[in-house]
Amino acid sequence: MSIQVLKPKFHVEECLDSVRECLENGWTGMGFKTIQFENSWMEYTGHKNAYFLNSNTVGLHLAFHILKRELGWQDGDEVITTPITFVSTNHAILYENLKPVFADVDEYLCLDPNDVQKKITNKTKAVIFVGYGGRIGKLKEIINICKTHNLKLILDAAHMSGTRADGVFPGTWDGVDVTVYSYQAVKNLATGDSGCICWAEDKYAKLTREIAWCGINKDTYSRSNKGTYAWKYDVDNIGYKYNGNSIMAAIALVQLKYLDSENERRREIVRLYEDGFRNNSLISVVPANFKEECCYHLFELAVPDRDGLLEYLSKNGINCGVHYRDNTEYKLYNSSKGLCPRAHRVSQHLITMPLHMWLTNDDVLRIIEKVNEFVR
Ligand SMILES: *Cc1c(COP(=O)(O)O)cnc(C)c1O
Repeated sequence: MSIQVLKPKFHVEECLDSVRECLENGWTGMGFKTIQFENSWMEYTGHKNAYFLNSNTVGLHLAFHILKRELGWQDGDEVITTPITFVSTNHAILYENLKPVFADVDEYLCLDPNDVQKKITNKTKAVIFVGYGGRIGKLKEIINICKTHNLKLILDAAHMSGTRADGVFPGTWDGVDVTVYSYQAVKNLATGDSGCICWAEDKYAKLTREIAWCGINKDTYSRSNKGTYAWKYDVDNIGYKYNGNSIMAAIALVQLKYLDSENERRREIVRLYEDGFRNNSLISVVPANFKEECCYHLFELAVPDRDGLLEYLSKNGINCGVHYRDNTEYKLYNSSKGLCPRAHRVSQHLITMPLHMWLTNDDVLRIIEKVNEFVR
């Protein structure tokens, strides 16, 4: 059997029991398990609020939608972003007719504060930071820049489920305005598709509950406890259908119990990789800060002949990936090509190593051996 690059591990029997509860109760929609999950997530992370979504992508859209509306941002106002990410990060900016302005990345492949500083104009309203592969990078410095220039800071924490810094979840740091997590099928906390949005300000969290559910200002669950007046809700805003459901939350609640121990295993595998590549001067490992608390959604190398290595490993039953192509290479973002030289250069050499719960130490050693065989 060949080795996959990302492969989720589901705690099948427990997940089925949790889903069965929804089916037997006749409650698969919003409420019930989604509320349980929101409470568990707040307790786990320390966020003051949490709203369970059908994906991270919709959460990023909600973040820009609400900030734009509430703060009076105009079409064409600018958001500084990274080219090394999944396209949802940047699409979310375009959904609201805002303009993505790409800044370069640093050694962690996260936004480089120096380049962010240079990209600020009088139209800049916000910065979106991606915790690449679970890394924190220089988020602290970015927060300071945002405070100085009165910019909002959105944290795309799609890779960051479980990452801490000195025991604290970076999304809860003072200066992060909104944090959006992903529980998509191959993320560290895997469901099918779902996500969560956590605001620093309660007023935006409250608004999220309405706008993410078609603008309706009371959810079904609380209405169902109010007798014959259940139908009597109001609609304040044109909203979207972005809420998550109890089936996904039922799975997420089970998966959450194992998140920390699974992240610990990820760090163990990363240590094996690092030892295995330490003496190969042609390989550079993408570093992480707060290494002992990084959830390592991804572990990447930069190698001279990336495409050759991908092919060689694939022939040997090892399927690796690339995270990510420089987004400015895509037709949609092509007008920004050349603005981020480091991102452009490094993305041509990046290869994502297999990292998941199904790998044995022997698997990892075999992968290391094959990589070292080719890269020399
Ligand atoms: C996966 C991912 C997303 C999108 O998450 P979904 O839950 O699939 O919508 C956004 N940003 C990054 C960096 C991702 O890796």
